[in-house]
This record gives sequence, structure tokens and C-alpha cells, in this order.
Amino acid sequence: MAKTKKTAKKKLPVTGIIAIIAAFAAVVACAVLFLNKWSLELKLIGEETVHVEYGDTYTDEGADAEWSASVLPFLNEKVEVTTEGNVDLKKTGTYTITYKADYKNEHQEITRTVIVEDTIPPQIVLKSDPESYTPFNHPYEEEGFSASDNYDGDLSDKVVSEESDGEVIYTVSDSSGNSVKLVRTINYDDREPPVIELSGGSEVTFYVGEKFYHEWFATDDCDGDLSEQVKVEQNVDTSTPGTYTVTYTIADSHGNEATATRTVTVKEKPKNNPAPSGESSKTIYLTFDDGPGAYTDELLGILDQYNVKATFFTTSAYPAYAYCMGKAAAAGHTVCVHSQTHNYAQIYSSEEAYWADFNAQNAVIAAQTGSYSTMFRFPGGSSNTVSRSYNTGIMSRLAAQAGQYGYTYFDWNVSSGDAGETTSTSVVYQNVISGIQWCSNNGVPAVVLQHDVKSYSVAAVADIIEWGLENGYTFAALTPGSYAPHHGINN
Ligand code: ZN
Repeated sequence: MAKTKKTAKKKLPVTGIIAIIAAFAAVVACAVLFLNKWSLELKLIGEETVHVEYGDTYTDEGADAEWSASVLPFLNEKVEVTTEGNVDLKKTGTYTITYKADYKNEHQEITRTVIVEDTIPPQIVLKSDPESYTPFNHPYEEEGFSASDNYDGDLSDKVVSEESDGEVIYTVSDSSGNSVKLVRTINYDDREPPVIELSGGSEVTFYVGEKFYHEWFATDDCDGDLSEQVKVEQNVDTSTPGTYTVTYTIADSHGNEATATRTVTVKEKPKNNPAPSGESSKTIYLTFDDGPGAYTDELLGILDQYNVKATFFTTSAYPAYAYCMGKAAAAGHTVCVHSQTHNYAQIYSSEEAYWADFNAQNAVIAAQTGSYSTMFRFPGGSSNTVSRSYNTGIMSRLAAQAGQYGYTYFDWNVSSGDAGETTSTSVVYQNVISGIQWCSNNGVPAVVLQHDVKSYSVAAVADIIEWGLENGYTFAALTPGSYAPHHGINN
């Protein structure tokens, strides 16, 4: 057998192996050194944009910077970061925070945006009185509201309200554009009854034979004019004297009712004053002093209605009404002298002064009526004592002179009290009525003193005449020969 010759392998020496490894390491190191790049890296911690609600806190998370190798990242080094900029948490807005890092001539800068914002809407609070309501068909009357916002504070005067379809819609926005809307439901109701108005008043008088006429109006706060729907119950019979009641009722559409009543008196037509035929204790002479004035024309109309003639003792206190003297004379009334000035101190200073004033007024009468008067009444009456302080004994001398001149003076025996005692029409009426009764009981005609410059006195005349006619009296105007009551002279 042939022996196989063993071929022994040749081993590399240890030094060779080391050399190879070294060479390889050197190549790798060179590659690393060649490829590796150093850089400054700056990174935010947290989000790039941060939203902060107004009122919340904010803590900046900062940023990290390091000097790092791209191939051998474990070879890094922390670098200090500086922060600039700040966030005002009390003011909404967009804030920028800048982070900066510097190392070995490298500079890095990054920013973060912090938005401080208000996303909470304002709040509206409505005031409401549980007792209050809005009548149907009426606009809502605001009971009040307020609005406040966490950021803007009080926004009450920025609230816009609008009424529509039974609701009031309130809206308001804050300065960040957050808005809120609140709805109030209007509480409609009708608690007021209609109001009935009776034209002519609740008491009216008709004379027998006249046509009964009446008019009324009804209005309701919700339904408006209801006049046409008023139910009227009446049984007025103007052919029969008596007192009748007319009832007016109305209900509104929500069941509130109203009633009004009117008393209708039907009475016999007042008699016309009969033509005077001689004077008696049933004669009434109505006399009016100190005018003509603002109510004289009206008085002439009232007298005319009853065919009553009266007597006017005139002054020139109200020249604008002087025409009433002519009107009165033309209607058959007697127009006499009272005084032009009615100034006691002047007219009772001397006889000359008295007659000068008398003649001046008589000239006015003549100008208005066409003739002078021989009839007069002393201011204050013949019994006045005021004249004592101006001239002792003058009333006695004037009364005597009047007789010599052919003048007749008239005092009165019925005082109405309208010159100071009262301003009440019914008191004037009562005073006159009881005075007239006293006169007829004592067998003398009544010479009644009233003042046609007092409206409340003129207002009593129609009732005085009606009372007189119903009680059998006759009214007449004074003539120079009429009964002339004279007070006792005191000066
Ligand atoms: Zn007088």
C-alpha cells in the first residue's frame, strides 16, 4: 500500500492576525471619521402650538438642545437653551416663545406658539316678576336682564333682544366672538275688564215728549273697541215722567265683564216764565252785579231759555265784555249803573268823585244800549260802612242827591253768598231759594243779589229759575218803579 503523504497545513503567525485586525479597525475608524457629522440639535418639549383657556395656568415645557454625532449618537452632549418671550394669561392673544442654543459657532432657534383664548360664552340672566303679564295684542314690556362674561365682565348693555311670536330672544357676544342666546316665553293674560264710557254722563235728564237718545263707548285693553257689542237694557219712556235705569254690559273675549248704569230722569218740560203782570210777593227780581264778564253771555242764554228777564248792575272791569250790555238790553233785560271803577277809596272820597264815576259808567251804558239808566246800586250797598274811612256821612248825602237827580237805587233782600261766603253752586242755589221763600212769606218781592263774574253762581241760575217756575213765581226785570229794598244807611 502506498502511503499517503500527509501534507501539513501552514499556520498563519499570531502577529499576522493582529496586523489584519488592526488594519481593518483603522479602515473602519477612518470610515467613521469620514462619515460622522456633528450637529447642534434643538427640539421642543411638548407641542409646537399650545392653547390655554383664559383663567387657566400655563407652564412652559421648554426645549432640549444637544451637540450630537450623526454616526455615533451616543457621543452627544447637553447644550444650554435660553428662552425668550412670555405669555400674559390675563389677556387673550397669540404669544411666541423663542428657544435659542449656541455651541461651537452653531446657532439654533425654534419657536412655540401659545394661544391664550376665551372659549366660554357669556351668560344672560332674565328678571321676571311672577305677578306680571302682558295683555294680549300688546308688545312685551321688558322686565329686565343682565349679561356677564368671564373675560369681558358686564355685557348687559350689549344684549340685543327681539320679540317674535310670543317669545323674546336675547343674544349677546363676548369680545372673543362667543355668543349665547336665551329665550323668554311671554306670559300673556287678560285681567282687565273693558271700560264703558257713557257720553253725557251717568245722570241725564229728558223732558216729556223728547226723543230718548244715548251714546256709549266700550274699550278693552286687549280687544280694543267693543262699543258695538255692548248689551243695553233699558225701558225709558219719555212720555211718562219718572226715573229710569239703563244698564250697559260688555264682556271681553277672555271673560272679563264690565257694567255701567245710567239714570235717566224724565220730567215735565219747565214752564216758560209767564209775562209779568204787576208785582207781588211771588215776583223774583234776579240781579247781577260787577259784570259784564266772562260768564255774562252764557247767562243771557240761560235766561233766554226760560224767557226770564233780569237786571244787570254793571261795571267796566272787563271792557272786552261791554258788548253784553247791548245784548242784554236788546233781549229786554235792565242794564243799570253799579260803578265804573268799583274802587271804594276813590268813589267814596267825595260826592263829586262818586258822581263822576257814576256818569262815566252811565256813558258806557248809553254807548252800548242807546240810553242812559236812572237805576243804580251802590258798591257795597247803601248800608256799607267802608265809606266811613274815606268820607264821614257820604252815604246819607249820596242817597239824598240820588233822589234829587231822579235816580233810584236798589239794595237787595236775598243774598246768594257768592261774593265770599261760598264758591259752591249748590250753596248759592240753597241761599237763593231760602231767601226767596222768606220774602214771599213776608209779603215782599225778592230782589236777589248774584254776581255774573262768578261761574259757580251763574251755574245755579237754571235750577233757581226752574224751582221758581215750579213753585208759582214770576221772574221780572227791575224798572224805576219796582219794589226797591233799602238797607239802613250806616254812614
Ligand atoms: Zn259790586
